[in-house]
Amino acid sequence: MSLIVKNLTKRFTARGTPAVADVSFAAPTGGITTLLGPSGSGKSTVLRVIAGLEQPDSGQVLFGDEDVTHLPAQHRGLGFVFQSYALFKHMTVRKNIAFGLGVRKTPSADARRKVEELLALVQLDGLGERYPAELSGGQRQRVAFARALAIEPKMLLLDEPFGALDAQVRVELRDWLRRFHDEQHVTTLLVTHDQEEAMELSDHLVVMHEGRVAQAGTIREVYDRPATPFVAGFVGGANVMRGQMVDGRVSVGVGVGLLAVNVTNGTDAPEGAAVNAYVRPHDVTLTKADADTPKISVARVERMAWIGGYVKLSLKLSDGAPMTVEMPKSEIEALGINEGDLVMANLREAKVFMDYSI
Ligand code: ADP
Ligand code: MG
Repeated sequence: MSLIVKNLTKRFTARGTPAVADVSFAAPTGGITTLLGPSGSGKSTVLRVIAGLEQPDSGQVLFGDEDVTHLPAQHRGLGFVFQSYALFKHMTVRKNIAFGLGVRKTPSADARRKVEELLALVQLDGLGERYPAELSGGQRQRVAFARALAIEPKMLLLDEPFGALDAQVRVELRDWLRRFHDEQHVTTLLVTHDQEEAMELSDHLVVMHEGRVAQAGTIREVYDRPATPFVAGFVGGANVMRGQMVDGRVSVGVGVGLLAVNVTNGTDAPEGAAVNAYVRPHDVTLTKADADTPKISVARVERMAWIGGYVKLSLKLSDGAPMTVEMPKSEIEALGINEGDLVMANLREAKVFMDYSI
């Protein structure tokens, strides 16, 4: 079932900016839609309004064609998983899941069968008689998923569901959720501040900033054509440099030299305009400087972090400005670049926004 949110506004205080301001987006049937934004950007408030746990000041929530804005939470047929969805400590896994079914007394044969199905679905077969304290964090969170799924929800609402887990378990559970979703196709709305999580899981991304939707689209649309400087910086990360539009390209100062760089976000900044150029760390390529390289175009490698298949380099440009670069490990090795080396930076492309500060 699809979800449509129309012009939602929610204030917690009479004065000041609303927690959620004029938020509209659609979450398509059977997909994972992610609300991505920094802490305090209004993600949980939007989720709580959709769940019926919070009434909006204005706006609508539609499930398919049905306006559910004023429908009580318990009639919305939604499943929730929160960061720490406290399981009932004194109940076994099986009883926790059965609780989601609405079976509080002796479960019927049907309910028992359903619980077994759910245990298999979340890959916890055989652990039904354990208590939450006897499970790992990842297993506990899968019990929370099973409990949410027990009512066969029209939609799953997940608020930072992996937030309390260790990095490795988080990645495992994320992979599990993706596979699970590919089999079950429950319409899912995920809230996270973690852009990597958002990119790995979502079909559709809604980036939130200060209570508003900064941009909505596919991952690639948002990443390749960020609508605002905030989105360019928050999704994917970027080096921000002052520049000027020259012949349809952006001329940026790299150290005390100038580079002409291709602009790939279709800016309408006119010739000569002062702009901010956003350059992704992986859009910087390095070559090693030698004795003939002019000093002004040289940067120093201050730090290198070897992260799996790529290397993250912190450079200091000739004017003292920092720059972050990410290059494949194999390229760094082939170039023989080490900490302390002098290098030249080239910029593959930039996203450009008008600089209204000057
Ligand atoms: P996020 O989930 O993106 O971190 P929230 O939706 O939790 O953001 O919060 C958005 C804003 O609304 C924040 O400024 C927060 O302090 C405020 N807020 C959230 N819930 C309440 C509440 N129950 N009472 C007052 N202010 C709230
Ligand atoms: Mg939140």
